[in-house]
Amino acid sequence: MKDDSRWAIRDQLAGRRRRLEDALAAAGPEPALEDLLQEVDAALDRLGAGTYGRCEICHDPIEDELLLADPLARFCKGDLSDAQVRALQEDLELAARIQAGLLPKAEMQAGGWSVARLYHPLGAVSGDYCDLAPAADGTLFFAMGDVAGKGIAASMLMAHLQAMVRVLLEADTPLGLLLEKVSRTLCETTLPAHFATLACGRAHPSGEVEMANAGHMPPLVVRGGKVAEIAATGLPVGMFCQAKFSVSKVVLGPDDALLLYTDGYTESRDPAGAEFGRERLASLFALNTGLPPRDLLAALMHELDRFRAGTPVADDLSLMALRRAP
Ligand SMILES: [Zn+2]
Repeated sequence: MKDDSRWAIRDQLAGRRRRLEDALAAAGPEPALEDLLQEVDAALDRLGAGTYGRCEICHDPIEDELLLADPLARFCKGDLSDAQVRALQEDLELAARIQAGLLPKAEMQAGGWSVARLYHPLGAVSGDYCDLAPAADGTLFFAMGDVAGKGIAASMLMAHLQAMVRVLLEADTPLGLLLEKVSRTLCETTLPAHFATLACGRAHPSGEVEMANAGHMPPLVVRGGKVAEIAATGLPVGMFCQAKFSVSKVVLGPDDALLLYTDGYTESRDPAGAEFGRERLASLFALNTGLPPRDLLAALMHELDRFRAGTPVADDLSLMALRRAP
């Protein structure tokens, strides 16, 4: 690259830097803009150090037309696939940050309930849906779901699912109708193979919990020391447009607890290939019901890690525990 081109690029980068700073000043902290600003600064540093325009992989000069098209380019044409991989990784990291922003707090006290959740994506993003939303009437809405598939596509569908649920909650939609509407909308707006399991409920300050379950792993309830599954009351949402969902009720006392989970937990395997399974989870839950929700989830994860004994994780994993606030 000729020296006059370098000056042109330096001017261009300096101009972009000013615009980024203006945008940051106007918008406040914005990770995507801050990342871009760092990239621009790194390119200016490379110009200063004389390493600008050298491929970071093979150290050959980067083609002029590539640099003119993208002054932040760090790889030559021959190594562009690596750069593209990197760009993809950056997109994925951004998607992960967006998804993290959609999650409810890890712990919450609301409506007389104490709740904790764990959310462990297999990769950068998860197809699990985990939500908590206190309502104006003093109740607490909670949800746990699992979108078909994995990765970016599943995380997009998960975000779509959450947006629908949130809108319907704003309109005070009863649980059964909420699942019905979510199912119909998913059915009409997504690809045929795109559906989601969804267990959700509304916890009242009195201890009463309404539950509806669209094909999700049955939530577990411990009442009076006895553990039971709350069976699914319908098919996954998005599978059939006309699906209906019934609502059941349980009443929890001060020493009782409720657990929601995705199959990433129960389908974990030990080195011999055996599944952790629902029965093992049920007895483990019953054994640890007395713990505060956060400690309860930590105990479940500790036991799962022991069982897995280093077997690689194969799925997204989420857990949520609810009990009456002390
Ligand atoms: Zn190269």
